[in-house]
Amino acid sequence: MLRRIFTQVAILVSIASLTAIILNHFGINIFASFFVGIVIQFLAYYTFIITLNTYVALKNKELDNERLKELSYQGLGVTCPCYKQINDFIPVRLNTPTYYRCSGCSKAISVLINTETAVVTEPQDSSIQHMNAILGKGIQNANP
Ligand SMILES: [Zn+2]
Repeated sequence: MLRRIFTQVAILVSIASLTAIILNHFGINIFASFFVGIVIQFLAYYTFIITLNTYVALKNKELDNERLKELSYQGLGVTCPCYKQINDFIPVRLNTPTYYRCSGCSKAISVLINTETAVVTEPQDSSIQHMNAILGKGIQNANP
């Protein structure tokens, strides 16, 4: 920790000294240019930190939104069997037993998933051509 502080102060003084030497060649007071070098480094540092924090915050928000989006594909809205009947949205994995802690009663709740199957049907085509094909004769012939 102390070594890091000394390193940073050494870098700060080195860059400020270099700035003072360069600006002194152009006739600017060496102490004023040394001070300007230090101020410029602090401004650059804080600009970098603010930019980095903003970038990290935006990236975290983006990752959080992506995580919530993925979670919505793999989650269920469930109701706790306690008397409070609290509804929670929980992530569900089908390859492991699913447990969650109720947000109302703080008890560990196990989720049991019961599945059913059904045949997918398509809407029946009720056009006259289709009915003729099914009945083998013209529908309009059946009506006198
Ligand atoms: Zn509960």
